[in-house]
Amino acid sequence: MTRLIKVKNIAIGGGAVIPVQSMLNVPTSDTVSSLRQIRKLEKAGCDLVRLTVNDAAAAKALPEIVAKSPVPLIADIHFDYRMALAALEAGIAKLRINPGNIGDKKRVKLVAEAAGEKGVPIRIGVNSGSLREDVRKKVLAGHLSLGLAMGRHALAEAKALEKYGFEDIVLSVKATSVTETVRAYEFLHENCDFPLHLGITEAGRLEDALLKSGAGLGALLLKGIGDTLRISITGPVEKEAEAGRKLLQFLGLRPYGPEVVSCPTCGRTKVEVEKISREVSRALSKDPELRDYQCKVAVMGCAVNGPGEAAAAEAGLAGGSDCFLLFAKGKALRKVSPREAVPALLQALRNIKNAKRLK
Ligand code: SF4
Repeated sequence: MTRLIKVKNIAIGGGAVIPVQSMLNVPTSDTVSSLRQIRKLEKAGCDLVRLTVNDAAAAKALPEIVAKSPVPLIADIHFDYRMALAALEAGIAKLRINPGNIGDKKRVKLVAEAAGEKGVPIRIGVNSGSLREDVRKKVLAGHLSLGLAMGRHALAEAKALEKYGFEDIVLSVKATSVTETVRAYEFLHENCDFPLHLGITEAGRLEDALLKSGAGLGALLLKGIGDTLRISITGPVEKEAEAGRKLLQFLGLRPYGPEVVSCPTCGRTKVEVEKISREVSRALSKDPELRDYQCKVAVMGCAVNGPGEAAAAEAGLAGGSDCFLLFAKGKALRKVSPREAVPALLQALRNIKNAKRLK
């Protein structure tokens, strides 16, 4: 079990529910855009939001952003330890530093002491692109695997912070390679009790990022490795939060409202499964009564697997010839037209939910 770290009201490690993270992609100095994006992320299910504090203008904007943010914020610090001190003054909830580029040990010590006084945790974030030069040379020469190099580097930096009496440490070791990332986290899992922030760095645009992160983070999470995560995506930030939520939901690690299963369709299909499935997801996410309801909803193309899957779900639709069979709690209710299908499914779910409440 990893040690428990508190980031304001959010717990990381110690077996706590795994929080989802993301990072702003607007300049922190732009207070209005930053707050707008933070709110969007919160709505998408993000628990912790990171933002860069890379210059004086960002540091100046930070107190207002911190005061108005609905979720705890994490300051991302590179190169300039003074930005870490300014972020702490602004009331930041957590720091992410890369000690390798903060400079000499005295500066790291100053940051650790200031964070310790305020009870602010620090994530040591080692990335494959920012290894120490001597370590990088060893990796390039093939004397050391990248994963092991990152894991050892992160652990050494954490031990250095501990020497300054600082213990609220989270570690991350992100590479663009899925296998090296997994190797790095496995090393840390075996060699320390620091909570681990999972991620694949520079994972690419949506489709690639989802596959890479699903493969790497999924492999780790299924082994019980990982205490918080970010799914990095080149694209809209809210997609990161949605993807993080879904990954945890699909692994059975965190409930997040209805899960829509739908078949891939085939030559038998005579109804628009993709369209209906999308409409069901959209309608559920907007429905105040159902969006947090933990259940499985099935949209199936035909009667081969359709009724079976639909019946196994809380409610479902199994396609026929230009119509659907509506199922609820394992029972076929009635035939519905494609136009009626989505509202009828939602109503069936509401009925089940209300019936459960009355029991
Ligand atoms: S449920 Fe029916 S339509 Fe969908 S993939 Fe299976 S056989 Fe094809």
